[in-house]
Amino acid sequence: MEFYGLLGEKLSHSLSPKIHDLIFKSIGLEAEYNLFEVKRNDLEKFTQGLKVLNIKGVNVTIPYKEEVMKYIDEISYEGKRIGAINTISIIDGKLYGDNTDYYGFGYMLEYHNVEINNKVAIILGNGGACKGALYYLLDNMIEHVYIVSRNPEKITEFNEKRVSLISYDELIYLKGDILINSTPVGMYPNIGDSPVGEDIISNFNTIIDLIYNPEETALLAKGKYLDKVILGGLYMLVGQAVKAQEIWQGISIDKIIMNDIYSEIGREFR
Ligand code: NAP
Repeated sequence: MEFYGLLGEKLSHSLSPKIHDLIFKSIGLEAEYNLFEVKRNDLEKFTQGLKVLNIKGVNVTIPYKEEVMKYIDEISYEGKRIGAINTISIIDGKLYGDNTDYYGFGYMLEYHNVEINNKVAIILGNGGACKGALYYLLDNMIEHVYIVSRNPEKITEFNEKRVSLISYDELIYLKGDILINSTPVGMYPNIGDSPVGEDIISNFNTIIDLIYNPEETALLAKGKYLDKVILGGLYMLVGQAVKAQEIWQGISIDKIIMNDIYSEIGREFR
């Protein structure tokens, strides 16, 4: 029997145990996935504990994706680039950190056939989820990405000429192909909130919300009303979980398994 889990602060609504149980079943692994609700002050003790317990891997969620990095022995290229990790592997008493949101975002675009080559994208928000999406877009031939922040002047410039930082006031004058919400605005329980209104949404063709709870956010509902292509974050959630399990097991998991898990989780969620 192998042991895995999720580190976070408040986890009672998490879908991760269900997703990982489905992955375990699909790959024939006898394993258990637990929720570890840890207080900020106990983060160091928790990570030290991982080194001596019989746990193979732990996912990390809000609010610890950045803070936990200082207790990790080795961080992957993606983790360093994004500045956040969501996956810890424990091997021979050493902790390794990875970021699989980058991959989850890419799997979601592939699954929904979203074309990014030579397109212009806007990302609302500037946290870890933004960086995962940003670097995937940059690595896959996006023409330009505008990051929209409430305080763009406070953000260190990206050393990349295809990235611009703008304010919400400047967003009004922009037109593009893909609008991505990487802020928590609209997430359960604040399901009536939307980070932007119809005046902004109408300037884009595809509207993506990284939020998965609710599956159709207020932002996506507005997009649907305006006849836009809309995508919620549920496939990304499944994709990042599958990638974490691939890292832990050192195997490659078939996309068909990922699609089946997405369908099953989606059915239960609705
Ligand atoms: P985060 O770091 O807490 O927030 C992201 C950014 O959103 C912040 O840096 C901030 O940027 C902006 N923001 C925060 N509160 C805001 C508010 N009230 N109004 C407007 N902007 C606000 O979170 P994160 O880890 O990047 O995650 C963001 C969202 O993505 C969450 O809803 C999370 O559930 C979702 N997510 C989904 C997946 C998935 O698998 N589907 C994976 C990761 C994350 P500025 O201060 O620069 O404006």
